[in-house]
Amino acid sequence: RTITNHLPTSELQALDAAHHVHPFTQNDALAKKGARIITRAKGVYLTDSEGETLIDGMAGLWCVNVGYGRKELADAAARQIEELPYYNTFFQTSHVPAIALAARIADLAPGDLNHVFFASSGSEANDTNIRLVRHYWALKGKPEKSVIISRKNGYHGSSMGSASLGGMTSMHEQGGLPIPGIVHIDQPHWYAEGGDMTPEEFGLQRARALEEKILELGADRVGAFIAEPVQGAGGVIIPPSTYWPEIQRIVDKYDILLIADEVITGFGRTGNWFGSQTFAIKPHIMTIAKGLSSGYQPIGGSVVCDEVAAVIATDEFNHGYTYSGHPVAAAVALENLRIIEEEGIVEHVRDVAHPYLAERWHALGDHPLVEDTQLVGLMGSLALVPVKGERAKFAAGAGTAGYITRERCFANNVVMRHVYDRMIISPPLVITPSEIDILIDRATVALDEAY
Ligand code: PLP
Repeated sequence: RTITNHLPTSELQALDAAHHVHPFTQNDALAKKGARIITRAKGVYLTDSEGETLIDGMAGLWCVNVGYGRKELADAAARQIEELPYYNTFFQTSHVPAIALAARIADLAPGDLNHVFFASSGSEANDTNIRLVRHYWALKGKPEKSVIISRKNGYHGSSMGSASLGGMTSMHEQGGLPIPGIVHIDQPHWYAEGGDMTPEEFGLQRARALEEKILELGADRVGAFIAEPVQGAGGVIIPPSTYWPEIQRIVDKYDILLIADEVITGFGRTGNWFGSQTFAIKPHIMTIAKGLSSGYQPIGGSVVCDEVAAVIATDEFNHGYTYSGHPVAAAVALENLRIIEEEGIVEHVRDVAHPYLAERWHALGDHPLVEDTQLVGLMGSLALVPVKGERAKFAAGAGTAGYITRERCFANNVVMRHVYDRMIISPPLVITPSEIDILIDRATVALDEAY
């Protein structure tokens, strides 16, 4: 039996339910209602098996930065598959796509982040980071500097190592995480946790939680601090302006490596090539994935500064993935970076985000269901509230306001995500003002229906 787009939706849904286990999904519940089958996409639009057109406010999973349907990327993949579909870089060999992509990333990355270890995803890259950090300090004669500090409600991936770095308790509960040597501090989420403090006071307090943890453990035991410049999957939480400068002071003072997880914030999302530039931080290691290839191929990596790379280079690094530096993924990523640069997509993000999207996004704060609108570049969130004008939350268990709103969005053919009671957007970076209007108009209808 051949399964194609031409089968009726109900048949595709039945096959999906019978054989396909979906990530981050209660599969029984999905099987009852049937998955929406996406068949093709172009620009910022998706088409489903019923012929409906949806506007994608999430760029897939925060990744399709250059939009869907870019023939240049299909051509780059086809050319590379014909020329050299696969070869590894483990045993004294290299190949041009990996060389060219590493060099290009080194050009684009800030400071002396000049060296790239490739992986196929953000999760794999963050697993690499755990080993990189520990091996680096061991080679420096300080093997006890093995603890990595991260944040509650941070997201760094789904593998056992990267989910341990993450601060999602629901993920820790399944599988007995975190792995040893990873500790979590509180997040800089002023709206939810700031109480009576100003955002600036709260930002300082939450940054100083890092210093307190370092002093509690002893600086000689702490190897690195990892964080997303803007927490993405945790709810698009933009830290107060005081947070990152204080974090930078602390990591510098105690000789701790700073890992910026730029899996979402990299490649233009915040209006610069990297979120580290938007927030003026100087990481020693940067995690990249998603927008590196605009999601057209699975590829990620750890971008490492000169010092760390020089130390690691003195020993065999016992780590690697079959698909590290995969030539087809690398060729597509390289072409994707060319498109971002030549089409001025990073500049476009700045132009379209301020004031156009910002005005429309923050105006949603007038809706009776909405409070606390947040936006940086083309990533934004809004909090749904039961009582307008109060920083209140929906009661635990009744935290379905986000779910209901997300469903209403889906019904109105706009893809937005919810994290508890926060609604999120992260559209393709090529979105135009008129497409922003369509997105916000549909989101407004969904909010009205959910209210
Ligand atoms: N790091 C961050 C900040 C992410 O948002 C994600 C995925 O959403 C990851 C890491 C994991 O990346 P992947 O899903 O490619 O493994």
